[in-house]
Amino acid sequence: MMMLPPVTEMYRALLERDASFEGLFLACVRTTGIFCRPTCHARKPKPENVEFTATIQEALHRGYRPCRLCDPMAAGAAGPNWLGPLVHDMQHQPDRRLRDLDLRARGLDPVQVRRTFKRTFGMTFQAYERASRMGTAMRALHEGSPTLDAGLDAGFESDSGFRAAFARVFGETPGEARDMPLLTATWLESPLGPMLAIAGDRGLVLLEFVDRRALETELRELRRSLGGAIVPGEHVVLRQTEEELREYFEGRRQVFTMPLHQQGSEFQLNAWRALCRIPYGATRSYTDMAREVGSPAAVRAIGRVNGQNRLAIVVPCHRVIRSDGSLCGYGGGRWRKQWLLDHERSHTGR
Ligand SMILES: [Zn+2]
Repeated sequence: MMMLPPVTEMYRALLERDASFEGLFLACVRTTGIFCRPTCHARKPKPENVEFTATIQEALHRGYRPCRLCDPMAAGAAGPNWLGPLVHDMQHQPDRRLRDLDLRARGLDPVQVRRTFKRTFGMTFQAYERASRMGTAMRALHEGSPTLDAGLDAGFESDSGFRAAFARVFGETPGEARDMPLLTATWLESPLGPMLAIAGDRGLVLLEFVDRRALETELRELRRSLGGAIVPGEHVVLRQTEEELREYFEGRRQVFTMPLHQQGSEFQLNAWRALCRIPYGATRSYTDMAREVGSPAAVRAIGRVNGQNRLAIVVPCHRVIRSDGSLCGYGGGRWRKQWLLDHERSHTGR
């Protein structure tokens, strides 16, 4: 993760259009949903309406779109002249997945497109598509709109493809979802980046970092297994989750008490319950966990089931490491796993 300069410094740089901060941060303007380079000539937002990100990817995941004036997507190496129009179209049809076929139809070489994206934006073409689709869909949550319709009125352009992107990520469009059993989704800020939380009346069903690669798949599976629509809104379980998570990040909470609604096989449920028994600040190996659930041979299966955990932090799969002490994978990214373990250790004196 890239570190940002102090907020007051960034805001000063933004006001003064200080070119020495170019590439160090992006300014995301809440009122317009646009992100800018520090030197942009557009009118500057009030401090309470701006948030800063280190990368284009993070700005996209937060639901912001590149400013047309300062063109932050073109910062750094000037892209070839087909890049601007392609990015523009992708931004305006965030629900569309461009296949090699589509790229060729535009007269582009898919291999060259991928290479150019990686070089220019530091992320793959696929990651870019996913980030702008997820970001667009998440924006209703991020803005804290009480209902999706209000969110639509409050600033989603009609051409943004917002409804389509939302449906792609969360399922049925809100209008159709009215009469179905509901899962409620909200956006939570954390020191490790934004998180998506989803709950129903039986408890919390999902808590994930919004940039998690598997998130779209998880949401699809969730809709299939619970048969309900997901709509943005408030829920008592989500409020409790937000509160407890804040306490956890402040080092004031070691055990979570919100109700959890997990769906899975007997083996999965057992393995997830075993995770919850690993004390705060401690770690276990996959072998330990396999023994814990009574299937010493199931070390690999344990690894897989850990990866299928949808409740990040609350079901602490981050506390499982390799027998040699190395970290191995984590759905939210290894740097987050390291951060969580360090955080817990520093609050237990281990
Ligand atoms: Zn701008």
